[in-house]
Amino acid sequence: MDREAREILASIEGKELSAKERAQIPHQDMPVQDPGERIRNMSEVALGYTEAEALVEASRCLQCKTKPCVQGCPVGIDIPSFIHKITQKDWKGAMDVIQESSLLPSICGRVCPQENQCQKFCTVGKMKKDIDEAVAIGRLERYVADRQADEAALPAIPAPTGKRVAVVGSGPAAIACAADVRRAGHDVTVFEALHKLGGVLSYGIPEFRLPKRIVDKEIAKLEGMGIRFERNVLIGRTRTIRELMEDDGYDAVFVASGAGLPKFMNIPGENYISVFSANEYLTRSNLMKAYDGEHALTPYFHSHKVAVFGGGNVAMDAARTALRLGAETVDIVYRRTRDEMPARREEVEHAIEEGCNLRTLSQPVEIIGDENGAVKGVRIRRCELGEPDASGRRSPVEIPGSDFTVEYDTVIVAIGNASNPLIKKTTPEIETNRRGNFIVDEETNETSMKGVYAGGDIVLGAATVILAMGQGRKAAAAINDYLASK
Ligand code: FAD
Ligand code: SF4
Ligand code: SF4
Repeated sequence: MDREAREILASIEGKELSAKERAQIPHQDMPVQDPGERIRNMSEVALGYTEAEALVEASRCLQCKTKPCVQGCPVGIDIPSFIHKITQKDWKGAMDVIQESSLLPSICGRVCPQENQCQKFCTVGKMKKDIDEAVAIGRLERYVADRQADEAALPAIPAPTGKRVAVVGSGPAAIACAADVRRAGHDVTVFEALHKLGGVLSYGIPEFRLPKRIVDKEIAKLEGMGIRFERNVLIGRTRTIRELMEDDGYDAVFVASGAGLPKFMNIPGENYISVFSANEYLTRSNLMKAYDGEHALTPYFHSHKVAVFGGGNVAMDAARTALRLGAETVDIVYRRTRDEMPARREEVEHAIEEGCNLRTLSQPVEIIGDENGAVKGVRIRRCELGEPDASGRRSPVEIPGSDFTVEYDTVIVAIGNASNPLIKKTTPEIETNRRGNFIVDEETNETSMKGVYAGGDIVLGAATVILAMGQGRKAAAAINDYLASK
């Protein structure tokens, strides 16, 4: 593919191309590990563009004056501008443009649901009436960020202001907020309940989609900026928010504790042995390295036939992890059709290429156990699509009398996560909605408790990395204003 890209590049270099000619330049696929090979390792599936592929893909951009793609990016990266800099081979300039809006481009370039965000609005995709033909903005962002990863200097930190900020959690919302508050000269301490930093980026999203060295590098940058990290501290239990402010002297607190409480189906049989929440399953594998049997002590369940309930990114990650841990059959059981699946399209495609089966229009209604209390199978009811629901997707309607049973020895439930109730319980001053998410001021992300801000999944419900990061930055700007006036 690199050779083809170099040939295309040689044929267009130095030419003035019309919009039509640009749109005819072939879309550059992402090189990936071979499916047969990759299910035997945990290494990253998508290998990243070569320089020639990035230059060809960038040359497909029409530099639209109205920048429709920018409307689709939750943090408003100036996409045409960074792509133009790529075509000029101005890698530093491209990175500077991206970093004006995004602090985690290596991560977002990999995991953003681009087909529903920036790329959805791309003129090239629209001209060709095919979203796959849109300029591959996320891949280009990843290329620039990876290429410049070791080049960026740490930002200068002004003289200490004497103000102290506590950040709860260490996921993308926390990372973004901590960095921007520290850049204003305030002292920042991050409190993380787990022994490893990074939130879902570390414990949820598997290595084969997001290598942990990239997350570790972001954390190392924050440490280099003088941000302190306290691991194994559960705020709400070890210290409450009130204690942080009244006893420990923090002037402001940012809560980014995420949505880590797994939801279950509430169907019979969910207590059988070998029924896992996707959170537990993925945490064992990612954080406690259960997959690395030769070196890690964490046990994992040796499955043969696995059913994964759900159709989002979490379900795809759990299914693809189960394959890599040696399962022979993995069925993704989902009550709507593939078109309604909330997972990133690329993840669904990769799961299928690797051998996962999609069992769509299927609603699990009972988990069946054997005499030892272990999973033996799942009773499934067929569904059909009805009218659209509040999410705009057509809702599944169960077909009476259509039940059938499939043998499985493992069930992984991946139907979503709710917010962790601990901080809410120990800080009644913070108002929450009926789902337990913190209610915040839309402009500042301040909660109902003075000086306490919140952002990311604890506010939005289970959302995305880029939205969490955007909220962290918004809250940081408000915290910096608050501390300046305090
Ligand atoms: P989190 O990343 O959840 O971090 C919260 C942190 O707070 C955790 O480290 C937790 O241990 C810590 N914490 C919780 N309570 C306390 C406490 N009381 N005291 C101290 N620390 C505490 N999004 C995408 O955009 N693309 C994807 O492909 C994608 N895939 C996903 C795959 C999986 C398996 C999962 C679970 C989520 C995925 N998401 C994806 C969603 C995305 O990861 C989240 O929206 C994002 O991480 C939320 O960031 P956050 O900072 O709000 O919280
Ligand atoms: Fe697209 Fe995400 Fe990058 Fe924004 S941050 S340009 S939505 S890939
Ligand atoms: Fe380029 Fe597409 Fe954005 Fe137009 S919409 S500027 S073609 S990325």
